Amino acid sequence: MGVVIGKGSIKKLKSFVDELSPYKTAIITNTTLEKLWLGKILEQVSATPIVIPDGEEFKSLETARQIWKELLEIGFTRKSLIIGLGGGVVTDLAAFVASTFMRGTYLGLIPTTLLAQVDAAIGGKTGINFEGKNIIGTFYLPEFVITDPETLKTLPEVEILNGLGEVVKYGILDSGVYRKLKFFRGIDEGLIGECVNVKLRIVEKDMRERGRRRILNLGHTVGHAMEKVSGYRIKHGFAVSIGLMASALIAEKINGFDSGKVEELLDRFNLPKKHSFEPKELLKVMKMDKKAWYGRLVFVLPEDIGKVAVREVDEKTVSTVLEAMRD
Ligand code: NAD
Ligand code: MG
Repeated sequence: MGVVIGKGSIKKLKSFVDELSPYKTAIITNTTLEKLWLGKILEQVSATPIVIPDGEEFKSLETARQIWKELLEIGFTRKSLIIGLGGGVVTDLAAFVASTFMRGTYLGLIPTTLLAQVDAAIGGKTGINFEGKNIIGTFYLPEFVITDPETLKTLPEVEILNGLGEVVKYGILDSGVYRKLKFFRGIDEGLIGECVNVKLRIVEKDMRERGRRRILNLGHTVGHAMEKVSGYRIKHGFAVSIGLMASALIAEKINGFDSGKVEELLDRFNLPKKHSFEPKELLKVMKMDKKAWYGRLVFVLPEDIGKVAVREVDEKTVSTVLEAMRD
């Protein structure tokens, strides 16, 4: 999988497509990106745009079915190329469709949110929502990922913050990212590239998440519970931010980690650290989480910047911390 990250890299699409020389190309995108960035693609390659409505609710089986149908109608084959242009919703869906249509077509991704650039488009997980979030999906690697920080210029501020939640997570997992965040001067290709490398290094050894890849769930135990309890009204990156604070405080109690290091990063980006959920409700959801072990509470806990461990934590410690974090 080739990942190119750089200002203006979107202009390199033509050379990637030429190299694959696919039999037909389709671009899956949404109505928002259609107005902003689709033109940059169509001026380089001849392709059929497939435009879906904007929103997480369209990462669905119904949308996948409509796209499969359209691909059949335009005579798509396994040697054809699907390009996903958009945020994580579009890249997850496009990758899912590419991995399933005729057992797999070529796939290229052009992530256009910070979250998709550092996370969703990296690592080969595809998915659609079915009964619950990302219940149906595959592991499937793209031929290329083109990440152009210029595309973030049209992204609303709240979506930048949303992505920064995951960026701070990488800052705890990796001291290189941590240093970049301490001397933060803006989101650029260097910062995105370091985050991508952290994820690639971890995923490389455990693509199907049977072990080590779990450490990428730092901040997500509490984060997922908050998303669920809020009916997915809280943004993922914000839930992760609060979840990172929770992991840091739990770690402080268990192994003496200095939670101030996490707090300082969250403050720097004005990311949330407090919540107004009922700790009991969060605990209930955490025990049922698909990633939980038989109802036990398992956390990824920082031991130091750049070092984490997966540990079972007793309920009392978790509830004390969640209580202390209430707004
Ligand atoms: P999103 O795709 O909904 O994008 C957020 C909003 O920004 C949308 O309204 C979108 O149209 C808009 N947008 C995107 N790019 C833009 C641009 N350049 N300019 C202006 N507006 C733009 O949300 P997201 O946060 O990017 O992704 C969330 C999804 O990613 C979830 O479905 C989640 O499950 C998935 N995800 C997947 C993985 C994985 O490993 N596969 C990892 C993390 C998240
Ligand atoms: Mg996440």
